[in-house]
Amino acid sequence: MSGLDLIDISKRFGQVSAVDSVTLSVPHGTFVCLLGPSGCGKTTLLRMIAGLEEPSSGELRMDGDRLNDIPAHRRDFGMVFQSLALFPHLSVGENIAYPLRIRGRSAAEQAARVKDLLDLVHLPGVADRAISQLSGGQRQRVAIARALAVSPRLFLLDEPLSALDAKLREAMQVELRQLQQQLGITTIVVTHDQREAMSMSDLIVVMSKGRIQQMAKPVDMYRRPANAFVADFLGQANLIRARAGVGGAAISGGVIPGLALPSGGGTLISVRPEDIAFVAGADGPVRARVGFIRDMGASVEFHLDAGEDRIVAVATPQARPDCRVGEEVSLSIPAEACVVFGEGEG
Ligand code: ATP
Repeated sequence: MSGLDLIDISKRFGQVSAVDSVTLSVPHGTFVCLLGPSGCGKTTLLRMIAGLEEPSSGELRMDGDRLNDIPAHRRDFGMVFQSLALFPHLSVGENIAYPLRIRGRSAAEQAARVKDLLDLVHLPGVADRAISQLSGGQRQRVAIARALAVSPRLFLLDEPLSALDAKLREAMQVELRQLQQQLGITTIVVTHDQREAMSMSDLIVVMSKGRIQQMAKPVDMYRRPANAFVADFLGQANLIRARAGVGGAAISGGVIPGLALPSGGGTLISVRPEDIAFVAGADGPVRARVGFIRDMGASVEFHLDAGEDRIVAVATPQARPDCRVGEEVSLSIPAEACVVFGEGEG
């Protein structure tokens, strides 16, 4: 037995089912992102792991030992909230040393640990500064250092980077991941940002309406989403209605050669924008009209009307197809790039 186990955990607030029968294992040293839209229950799940909320039913275990009855302050977990919750009247060093002070550690030990932690989060020499003298990114690092002060068994973060601007946020994603790898600390991060989840995690857990929709490595989840919700939430997805046709799958704008579908009713398929290819000439398997072109510098997005479907295709500037808004184009959708969902999963 190793790591954290959640076994059939549920949480109800009156009539609201915030978390519904979640079972999840987090092995030691793993970085897990709980990802989902607002209200899906990810914060409630993290708070139950931290001991700040009591499950309505189910069991939490750490290394095989039941956690449910152990109060938050005795779980030895480090936590960083969105608000950071730093003490504004204490210096940087006093903030970081706080968990050590309340555990009665000596002044010398506190000072040495503060120095090490500030080095670790790339903020050397700021122990005596006031919190108000720090930038948002620096405060973030102080909150992380404070949460790591007592070498927690589990590191829990709730939307830790959401207050930062886009550029700093991306830089901190890399830093947080490097720090986690350096320390080998088991980490669970709540986020609603799919890019953040993709770029940091060993394992992503996508939640919707209190339930786990899929749990997988980022690339596996991106390539093989379990259902339309996951396909759409993690990156961009073209969700297209298709049915069995001659030599492949028939879609509104043409055919996907070689994609075998069960005969009968329509099926929903998902295909990523970068997998859609432009074909020279007018006789490609899918015909579409260019509705909108969105040039983002590093990539170009084409919004295409293929029969009744609006399909998004992405190209690099180097491989940019020569077409304009209003023109007809030919496309090819490779069968192997399509993920086929059952009827109920649409
Ligand atoms: P967000 O990203 O907006 O924080 P979330 O995915 O973290 O959302 P939760 O905060 O866990 O979602 O909330 C899940 C559901 O439980 C929501 O419907 C919410 O309104 C409800 N809820 C959460 N905490 C309480 C509470 N203390 N009392 C009543 N309902 C609550």
